[in-house]
Amino acid sequence: LAGNRNEKTPLFTVDSPNVVYTEDAIETKYAYHTTSVTRAGDKLVATPKAQNYNFKVDRKVGKVGMMLVGWGGNNGTTVTAGIIANRRGLVWDTREGKRAANYYGSVVMGSTIKLGTDEKGQEINIPFHDMLPMVHPNDLVIGGWDISGLGLADAMDRACVLEPSLKELVRKEMAEMKPLPSIYYPDFIAANQEDRADNVIPGSKASWDHVEHIRKDIRDFKAKNELDKVIVLWTANTERYAEIITGVNDSADNLVNAIKSGHEEVSPSTVFAVACVLENAPFINGSPQNTFVPGAIQFAEKHNAFIGGDDFKSGQTKMKSALVDFLINAGIKLTSIASYNHLGNNDGKNLSSQKQFRSKEISKSNVVDDMVAANSVLYKEGEHPDHTVVIKYMPAVGDNKRALDEYYAEIFLGGHQTISIFNVCEDSLLASPLIIDLVVVAEMMTRISWKKADGSDDYKGFHSVLSVLSYMLKAPLTPPGTPVVNALAKQRAALTNIFRACVGLQPESDMTLEHKLF
Ligand code: NAD
Repeated sequence: LAGNRNEKTPLFTVDSPNVVYTEDAIETKYAYHTTSVTRAGDKLVATPKAQNYNFKVDRKVGKVGMMLVGWGGNNGTTVTAGIIANRRGLVWDTREGKRAANYYGSVVMGSTIKLGTDEKGQEINIPFHDMLPMVHPNDLVIGGWDISGLGLADAMDRACVLEPSLKELVRKEMAEMKPLPSIYYPDFIAANQEDRADNVIPGSKASWDHVEHIRKDIRDFKAKNELDKVIVLWTANTERYAEIITGVNDSADNLVNAIKSGHEEVSPSTVFAVACVLENAPFINGSPQNTFVPGAIQFAEKHNAFIGGDDFKSGQTKMKSALVDFLINAGIKLTSIASYNHLGNNDGKNLSSQKQFRSKEISKSNVVDDMVAANSVLYKEGEHPDHTVVIKYMPAVGDNKRALDEYYAEIFLGGHQTISIFNVCEDSLLASPLIIDLVVVAEMMTRISWKKADGSDDYKGFHSVLSVLSYMLKAPLTPPGTPVVNALAKQRAALTNIFRACVGLQPESDMTLEHKLF
């Protein structure tokens, strides 16, 4: 089913009076069914509700650029080499035999969605990428910034991630790529990173010149490559948290003034976010720090620009958000989670510094909260399993991060279940496909608009904070005041069902009544 089909010839069409295909768009009428619950004394009353929406999907994908902040790092070089390898259909030798380029680990490129059932009752599953007209990662034009000026070929060697035989095949192309100078405020990343900062824009604290500099970089990249759109993603070092200070970063206007006055609590990643908002380039934060201070979120909302974050959910946390979902929904009372990591790449080196570790610790700590809060049978109000996260820098293991987890749970009649996991995560090979997913889905969201069917309003975009990206992120950012969903299966269902709604299809409920009622 997959293949090199032209973006204009979809794999499937929807046959429904509610769905209209024009050359430019797919227009859909969609009834969104929810259940509203009210309290009557100590009783609950559930009332089915329906809201009719119109969705419009722009079918013209256009030419898309991906700019990475931290392009010369392990993730930046790995995702770049990976896309080149796929684009050229490369095959290389390893000691285990030949290996060919693939997009394994990308939910968009490596997984399928059930479309429906055929006349024999057989499930028809289609590649996720065929659900809507999405950009193909092979077509992304790649660029970016790094405070280290090393060309991408040398940076790829420094990363120690890819097989030598693969590196040789992509070396020539990678050698022509060089990161743009970036903004560097030494206080925000570990002091042990200083020796690679040889490619920096002058100035060691926030300034409006920095915002304008980054904006110009985006515009120039767009013009040079004749792009319709640029998506920017932070895969640079984890920064320390910025302190939230009244009058400094608590509102859009205050943040702008704080940048202009060079306030020391404005991080480089927040400066990037502001520049991207002004260029209408969706900005995604793949690291755990609080780039999106309240003022940055408000700034994005004000400009109807897309932002998403935080922190790629690649190895240990991805397992956690699946396993805890399983345990608690199975009625098993999880009482503690002990998580240890050791890793030896530059990310680990940066995280060996306390303030940067603290950002990661926060990001990793809240990932079971929604699942615990949802089960009032197992947990009393305010009760929570013990949860500890430890990260140690161990140079010898390089990018092959070790994640050791013990889940300790209470079962029937005072018994215990202990699950121990030893997870060797080839970190950058897990994170790179997530970068692709985040960029492809964020780009897709720029082409989806909606309006209420009963209103006279014009079509508009989704909320600025793209919580639909949650599946790929450890600490999902959601629109202010809305709940965070960490449970992996729910996150995937939200993503696939929103995409189904855009072409007028009901959510996949997995009821399969057609196999049960006959
Ligand atoms: P890395 O250290 O190899 O790469 C980061 C790069 O960012 C470096 O090349 C560095 O020079 C550059 N950099 C630092 N500050 C910069 C700035 N202000 N502007 C531009 N470039 C800057 O790290 P990595 O392994 O590629 O991971 C990148 C980030 O992704 C880290 O913050 C990490 O915590 C996060 N992350 C990674 C994973 C994963 O790899 N599985 C999972 C979750 C989160």
